[in-house]
Amino acid sequence: MRLVRDFRPLLAGLNVPALTGRVFRIPSPLPLSLPGRGKAVTPHLRTGILFMSLLLVQALPGWTPAAVAEAGGLRLETAGKKNALTLPVQLEQGVSLLPLKAAVEYLGGKTTWHGTTRKVVVKGTSGRSAVLTVGLPKAVIDRNAFVRLPHLLRLKRGRVLISPESLLVVWRAIGTRSPAYDPEQRVFSVGRVPVAASRESAPAARPGQKTRKPLIVIDAGHGGKDPGAIGPSRLKEKVVTLEVSLQLKQFLKKRGFRVILTRKTDKYISLKKRAEIANQAKADLFISVHANASRNRKASGSQVFIYNREASSRHAAEAARLENQDANYLEIIKDDLRQSVHEESSITAGGLISQQLEKMGLEVRRIERAPFYVLAKSHMPSILIETAFISNKIEEQKLRSRRFCRRLAEGIDRALGQYYQEKRSAR
Ligand SMILES: [Zn+2]
Repeated sequence: MRLVRDFRPLLAGLNVPALTGRVFRIPSPLPLSLPGRGKAVTPHLRTGILFMSLLLVQALPGWTPAAVAEAGGLRLETAGKKNALTLPVQLEQGVSLLPLKAAVEYLGGKTTWHGTTRKVVVKGTSGRSAVLTVGLPKAVIDRNAFVRLPHLLRLKRGRVLISPESLLVVWRAIGTRSPAYDPEQRVFSVGRVPVAASRESAPAARPGQKTRKPLIVIDAGHGGKDPGAIGPSRLKEKVVTLEVSLQLKQFLKKRGFRVILTRKTDKYISLKKRAEIANQAKADLFISVHANASRNRKASGSQVFIYNREASSRHAAEAARLENQDANYLEIIKDDLRQSVHEESSITAGGLISQQLEKMGLEVRRIERAPFYVLAKSHMPSILIETAFISNKIEEQKLRSRRFCRRLAEGIDRALGQYYQEKRSAR
């Protein structure tokens, strides 16, 4: 028996809006007969077992709710071809996804998959190519220009999936004829008079319309009885995080943003309370400031993290373990769907911060994902920044200096300025 099918009525019975209607992919179907009982398992008992299994399955690290609500098909048309092609579309967290390879081939291009780096090279009809990476909302065009994609590239059952909106951006860069996408008719076309041309241009903001100033919650990591990591010459992480946070506040205030700090002094605050402060304030963005530590004393660089149940590397898992104090895994992933819906915004903001810090000449490591408690519990786009490695002698010295902290704060501030600017112009 496939457990997948049997969960649906059960989930509906649980009446959890975020879960209802979703299908849960489970590593392998769990056996549902009890040893020696055979057919004696009553429907009642079976429901009980299913319920218990659901709780168990939720606890498995590999468990992810995969929304596979069939969203029907999406039609592709090109001016040069007689036949249209209808591709199956999956809905995931409200985003339509279609198989990249089939779509590109129909449009006259070619894809090459590089499994180890999780990258796809898409060759367009213009001879230009785009390199896309699974899990990242950007493409590199001809190895030298970036374009931001509205949605993440996904990998499901060995197939790379892309949203039509992202495909539009990619094809504009590497195709010979301009593409158009009509979300209502569900048609992606190339070389035709775009049906939805008018819909594509964002409505202009009404004159006099007040734009609400973004509210940012800055979370200075650790504090009070919790010093955080301690450097080789005894610099405490809690001192650095507060310094960077206070400086960042100054910068953001100057920009006109509203700012709340989870702590302004050397005081202890629980991880739970930190996320609660952001949730109660209904913040637009949560940014948790930390300094990294590693047993490898040579590890260096600034790094941005976003939330995911699964860490993207051993190093990311180690960073999360360090920052999570005693919070256990089950507690972290409980209710984390509320964070997951903000994943794309978190990546965009985090990506801009990484880019900005790099531009300022800092050493920047790639963005990674890991199950950080404070990120899981905040219900808005949220990022955690490890400013530098306090465990590295040279970086500890840098972190001691006000100027270095100021540079970090300035970089984050510029990136957030850019983030909200782009958000406004996209509206
Ligand atoms: Zn920390």
